Amino acid sequence: MKSEQLEALTQYVRDLYAPEDELLYSIRHESADLGMPQIHISLEEARLIQILLVAIGAQRALEIGTLAGYSALWILRALPEEGHLITLEYNEDHAAFARATFEKAGFSERAEVREGKALDLLPGLASEGPFDAVFIDANKENYPHFLVWAAENLRVGGLLVGHNAFLRGAILDSQQHTQHVTSMRAFNQQLADDPRWLGMVIPFGDGLAVAIRQE
Ligand code: SAH
Ligand code: MG
Repeated sequence: MKSEQLEALTQYVRDLYAPEDELLYSIRHESADLGMPQIHISLEEARLIQILLVAIGAQRALEIGTLAGYSALWILRALPEEGHLITLEYNEDHAAFARATFEKAGFSERAEVREGKALDLLPGLASEGPFDAVFIDANKENYPHFLVWAAENLRVGGLLVGHNAFLRGAILDSQQHTQHVTSMRAFNQQLADDPRWLGMVIPFGDGLAVAIRQE
């Protein structure tokens, strides 16, 4: 299939199945006006994550990498009424923006932004688990560490999702050896090899790693 055709079909799927409401739209635009990076998950990735969360009956979710709260809002909307999301963010402006997002969306009781570096916060979060779902979308160098933590702190049957598993194709470029790239390769290898994971990278968007924690 030609890439323009694939793009047109992806747009068709977005329009049909993953329409953005005004709030989601405004999060993207207001955060852009403030100069925040526009690296939120795509509509179709968001929709797939929602389906997977519902499929496993997720109630307690953890996100690593909040930004404006865009992906978090999609996640919160897929959780049941008693559901809860903790999301980790080290940039205080991003954390403040995300808190305002949750307030506007009526989720301030059920969504918590924890500020700090993820690797500093994760050990303390173990006692708040096990979690039903972990979404990894922070600095790529630490993805292998995040995956180890997720294997230990997801319940059996829990869901792992990792964003940007392709790094826009850099993982296949043999000339690239930055920490960023080698860590993502290690993450993908670890997800493939560790028998505790039943997973794969779905080859759409920038590569969405999805896995279920097995016995
Ligand atoms: N999940 C978001 C996008 C996250 S972008 C969405 O799709 O809407 C990555 C975010 O993670 C940025 O806001 C960045 O400040 C934060 N971040 C990066 N590395 C981090 C780390 N080690 N600990 C905590 N936050 C981190
Ligand atoms: Mg990302």
